[in-house]
Amino acid sequence: MPRRCTVCDHPQRHDIDATLVTGAPYRSVAKRFGLSESAVYRHKTEHLPAHLLKAKEVEVVAQADDLLEQVRNLQTHALDILERAEKSGDLRSALAAISQARGNLELLGKLAGELDERPVVNLNVSPEWLELRAVIVGALGPHPAAHRAVLSALEGAGNG
Ligand SMILES: [Zn+2]
Repeated sequence: MPRRCTVCDHPQRHDIDATLVTGAPYRSVAKRFGLSESAVYRHKTEHLPAHLLKAKEVEVVAQADDLLEQVRNLQTHALDILERAEKSGDLRSALAAISQARGNLELLGKLAGELDERPVVNLNVSPEWLELRAVIVGALGPHPAAHRAVLSALEGAGNG
């Protein structure tokens, strides 16, 4: 009998997935939900992407949409921090915010790709996404390297 994943079987699996998507450390997630660190790690690397892939199923779609929403919120925060860091001349924080924003975009791209059979969440045609994309690209204008990196990540997301 194959060994069950204690995270997949966990009654709060959705909360755990949502926490993992934010990039929370395995140790703190494990502690918070009473799991082993290795189970959390294995779940995130092996099962979480598959859960997102199963998004065609109605119940999971709702969860994936929720995750999408959370990533969008994170992105708003990252861009806000970037703007503030830029104004105060804190280049270190600005770079960290750019890096976080880029990670969020990659995740948004993946989620969009996995959900693109559902027109309602097809980010490539969603007005909110086009608006967000314009904001992101605009905000990175003063950072040519980040601007290029994000544009290429966006292209990849659009084509994938
Ligand atoms: Zn699992």
